[in-house]
Amino acid sequence: MKRTIALLLCALLLAASFACANPAEAKDRPVVVCTIFPQYDFIRQIAGDRVELRLLAKPGTEIHGFDPSLKEMTEILNADLLVYVGGETDRWVSDLLEKSDRTLNAVALIDLVDTVDEEHVEGMQGRAEDEPEADEHVWTSPENAIRITEGLCDALCRLLPDETDALRANADAFRKELEALDAEYRAVMQNAKRMTVVFAERFPFRYLCEELGLTYYAALPGCSSNEEVALSTVAFLIGRVREEQLPGVFYIEFSDRKIADTIAKATGCETWLLHSCHNVSREDFEAGVTCLDLMRQNLISIKKAVG
Ligand SMILES: [Zn+2]
Repeated sequence: MKRTIALLLCALLLAASFACANPAEAKDRPVVVCTIFPQYDFIRQIAGDRVELRLLAKPGTEIHGFDPSLKEMTEILNADLLVYVGGETDRWVSDLLEKSDRTLNAVALIDLVDTVDEEHVEGMQGRAEDEPEADEHVWTSPENAIRITEGLCDALCRLLPDETDALRANADAFRKELEALDAEYRAVMQNAKRMTVVFAERFPFRYLCEELGLTYYAALPGCSSNEEVALSTVAFLIGRVREEQLPGVFYIEFSDRKIADTIAKATGCETWLLHSCHNVSREDFEAGVTCLDLMRQNLISIKKAVG
């Protein structure tokens, strides 16, 4: 982030002292602030309207360049529970938590699962020599989504000890849906004719591919890179599609689909959307689309890819 956290904290201390002095600020429900959509959605499945839920990264926006305003930072510092992802993209959150003099009740998704590092597979461009970072897109595999549900349920039970039974019941119902989806994924993989997939751009699906046992090729590692995709990278991916006789390539939400369309044109293959669930469009958000809905749509695309 561009602004310096230290300067902001000075302003925040002032803002916070006003907030504390104002009894009208008293709230009846605990405030849960979520940095991005996946945890916002998971929390609403478990807590419903028992908490006042806030989403920092607005629907329809690209979350990787997210630059919080003073108001948003104040919201975080005044939250009863903060749920963030952790890792490099959320470095600003860890800095804020570290430099603030308050003890914040915060949960990072990456602490709820076993993480794997981003990796450089053949043909992927950029940063091969860099120190590998933990991949942040932990929510993309159904197995991880189940663990995250359990971890978030625990955090909510600590926040609302009188509501434990209801919270656990909601989390159980949600977990059962995730387990059913997970079983469907496994059934698709048992009948798979192909185990290789190609992503025509950034790659936030390490956990999903890992769980499904898929071999993948992608243009760019992780998904924070704004790098232009080189012609040689596109040529490599076209080569993979031809050699493996793949029926299609994947692109992610909010993509301009340029690379996917180029590969499709060159090889005659199809293009399929795979939702990373980082964020949803304003329209989907208002329609109440959930991560589970998007993961179900992903299953249809994965089925096409593996045959
Ligand atoms: Zn990402």
